[in-house]
Amino acid sequence: MKDTAKIRLKKKKLLLVSLIGVLLVLLFLNYTIGLGDYRKTEAPCLFCDIANKSLLPKLEYETDEYVIFKDKYPASTHHYLAVPKLHFESIKVLNRSHVGLVQRMHNGMVEFLIAKGIDTSKAVIGYHIPPFISQKHLHLHGISPPSEMSFWNRISFMSPSFWFKSSQNTLDSLKRLDL
Ligand SMILES: [Zn+2]
Ligand SMILES: [Zn+2]
Repeated sequence: MKDTAKIRLKKKKLLLVSLIGVLLVLLFLNYTIGLGDYRKTEAPCLFCDIANKSLLPKLEYETDEYVIFKDKYPASTHHYLAVPKLHFESIKVLNRSHVGLVQRMHNGMVEFLIAKGIDTSKAVIGYHIPPFISQKHLHLHGISPPSEMSFWNRISFMSPSFWFKSSQNTLDSLKRLDL
């Protein structure tokens, strides 16, 4: 009885060791053979690539300053992102000189949602606050209707909170900042 238990343990150890071996080999292959692809997908900034049209998804709207496209992980039926063509990490790096851009992005998002037949008075329109940002490139969320959002998304896009700020509040704060 004891001997068979020992053998079983040995077999388990052997299995574990070979599993770790296989994992190490896979990891090694990933870093050597896959490195070329790896570097390609690890673009310096995904949203810079999208805004400058070197990468999908399809753009829904475009101006000289920003683009609007569908969020990859929609929080409701309608969920769009307005992304400036210039790289700003988040609302934290903006100052009063950016009020014009932020106002135009806000107006653009509102007009875009209205054109989709959305009641913008109820829509969620705003920015995540670092470190609660999924992409380190400024992006304005436009979401509707809020009633279709999951419990977790309601929390994630809840404002005012220390992780999400409405577009209007962001504008008001920027206007109070120095240049
Ligand atoms: Zn960027
Ligand atoms: Zn966000």
